[in-house]
Formats: sequence, C-alpha cells, structure tokens
Amino acid sequence: MDKGIIIAIDGWSSCGKSTLAKALAKKLAYGYIDTGAMYRACTLYFQSKNIDISNDAEVASALNNIQIGFKSIEGKNTTFLNGKNVEDAIRTMEVSSMVSPVAELSIVRRDLVRQQQEMGKDKSVVLDGRDIGTVVFPEAELKIFLTAEASIRAQRRFEELKAKGIEITLEEVIQNLNERDHIDSTRADSPLKQAKDAHLLDNSQLDLEASIDYVIQLIEAL
Ligand code: C5P
Repeated sequence: MDKGIIIAIDGWSSCGKSTLAKALAKKLAYGYIDTGAMYRACTLYFQSKNIDISNDAEVASALNNIQIGFKSIEGKNTTFLNGKNVEDAIRTMEVSSMVSPVAELSIVRRDLVRQQQEMGKDKSVVLDGRDIGTVVFPEAELKIFLTAEASIRAQRRFEELKAKGIEITLEEVIQNLNERDHIDSTRADSPLKQAKDAHLLDNSQLDLEASIDYVIQLIEAL
C-alpha cells in the first residue's frame, strides 16, 4: 500500500476505539483524530458558559466561539479548546453525562463533521467515533466496527477512571455507558450503527496486539 488511506473506527462507548486508533496511527505514522474529544470539548464549553442546549440560537452563537484542536504533548494526543489544554477536563463524569445530549443536536454535528472532514481530507489518518464510516467519511478505504461485551467495557472504563484518581463506582460507570449507548444509537441524526462495509471486531477476548494485527492484515489485503 503506497497511498495513504482513511481508517474509520466506530463502535460503542469504552470498547477501546481510541486505544486501537492511537496504536494504529503510531504504527503507520498516520494522524489521529479523536472525534469524541471534539463533542466533549463542545460540551465542556456549553457547561462553562451555561448554554441552554434547547435554544438553537444560543447553541449556534456558542459554536462560533469554539475552536478545537489537537497537539501531541510528550507523545500524548492532547485536546485544546480555544487554546487551552482541556484533555483532563473533558474526561470527567460531569462532561460524560452531558455529552450525548449535546451530540444529538444536528447543529453541533454539522459543525463538527465539517471540521473532521477538513482535518482528514489529505488521508493517512485514523478517526474514531460513532459516525465516521457512515457519515463523516462514508468513502473511507477501511472501516472497523468495534465491540466488546458490556461488562468488560464497563470494567475497563472503571479501571481507567480509577487510575486517573476519579472517585466513581462501577454502577455509575455502567449507568453512564448504558445511557450514552442508548442515546447514541437511537438519535435521529447520524445514529451509531455499523456501516454495511465495516469489519466487525469484537475485542472482548483480544489484547491490543491481536487487534492491531487483525487491522494490519485487513490493510495489507486492500
Ligand atoms: O468517544 P467518546 O466516548 O469520547 O465520545 C463521547 C460522546 O461523543 C459519545 O458518547 C457520543 O455521544 C459523542 N460522539 C458522537 N459522534 C462521534 C464521536 C462521539 O456522537 N463521532
């Protein structure tokens, strides 16, 4: 494969999309776009400015004041909102509990999808999210739909949050994942679903290396 491609990774919350996407980007020397971080950054902004998300005009004017970008800091993909490092701030439960209602809004999706298409237009990029293979880049050369058993996803997320020092119970994590998955897969605009030409990968019993090998084999077969 001598030309760069677009790799779209979609799937349920906390099934390891970003871990796989980052590892692939590193291995292939590709760019990585964490589209979930963009919805989270918008949510953080709306919360900090007390934006009423049921008011379209308020949301539209807030979107005009939001600039989201990524930079690599000490080898770690880091999200910036209006020039400020918000990588930790967008991962709190406060943001996690509001992000899906924000991501349901078509006005928000239109704005972020346009930015994602611009960021990925030169290819050689891995994007992860919920609608990459269906809406953002329906022509992506390789699409993966990632899944894992619900209990395994919840446990992984719980351990990740605990390691960051966030006080949370496993029940709270399960509730948040269920709520997000429900809203994300039933919303009217760009619901989470497997694209017809996406490869389904269940990583419940796979380690990262095995998942990477699986994707690399698919790339070699293109
Ligand atoms: O990927 P992550 O779990 O950080 O995404 C947070 C939330 O952002 C998701 O639960 C979903 O509501 C929204 N999202 C989306 N479309 C994407 C990426 C994320 O609606 N492409």
